[in-house]
Amino acid sequence: MLIDFAGQVVIVSGGGRGIGRGLVERFHAENATVVALDLDFAEPIDGVRTIRCDVTDTGSVNDAIAAVEQEFGRIDVLVNNAGINVEGAVESLDPERWRACFDVNVFGVFALSRAVIPAMKRAGRGRIINAASFAAIIPSVGAAAYGASKAAVVQFTRVLASELGPWNITVNAYAPGMIPTAMNGFADMAVDRQERLLDTLSLRRWERPEDVADLVCFLASDYAGYITGALVDVSGGKFATQ
Ligand code: NDP
Repeated sequence: MLIDFAGQVVIVSGGGRGIGRGLVERFHAENATVVALDLDFAEPIDGVRTIRCDVTDTGSVNDAIAAVEQEFGRIDVLVNNAGINVEGAVESLDPERWRACFDVNVFGVFALSRAVIPAMKRAGRGRIINAASFAAIIPSVGAAAYGASKAAVVQFTRVLASELGPWNITVNAYAPGMIPTAMNGFADMAVDRQERLLDTLSLRRWERPEDVADLVCFLASDYAGYITGALVDVSGGKFATQ
């Protein structure tokens, strides 16, 4: 794809590993100035500014965004990728785990979005792109906390899109299916379960961080200038649940 983010500052939360790391590397390859936010970084990322930031902590979020503005003077794209997975049937789910899920997946998206709005309004342009999930749409046993948190992200996206449209700031969400990362315990999953899950994907291949990066780069680009408030499916056609 012919997308060049030269001169643009792109922030990716949860950029230290998993899908977020893939997004960071892709935006860097597309010439963006990339800032990765994460709780911790196992190692520096070449050519990328890394900042420790806990998205559940308003002070930490505001400090991180202030540092980006001071260092780079602009914020063009925010990808709210940081997220956690909390599984468990409602009856036995620890209420603190429920709260933690909403703290990272919902409050974190709110806090970072809120913090970048002034810079984007001043510029008269911006892109906020939020990680939702297939779990926001299709219910599955044990995914009450995670699914509800991602459904909240979808509605937050729509409302924020309508608030920020007049400033030429678009806000969109994307829904991956299942990418083998640390988050979903894929590596520990029984092979027959993996096979059954694979059968629910129309494309019959596992999703990769690059598949998400293709979509997110498009949504961040000028090609997506008239798309806002959307939830875009990037699940490989996951129409059935297991
Ligand atoms: P990972 O667990 O591999 O990575 C999540 C990243 O978010 C980690 O770097 C983690 O940091 C960071 N993070 C967690 N809590 C916080 C916090 N409080 N503040 C800052 N950073 C934090 O997850 P994935 O890469 O798999 O998922 C990325 C996003 O994509 C999530 O929003 C997830 O819900 C969504 N998604 C993933 C799917 C999948 O199948 N993997 C499917 C659908 C959606 P640390 O390493 O320090 O814990």
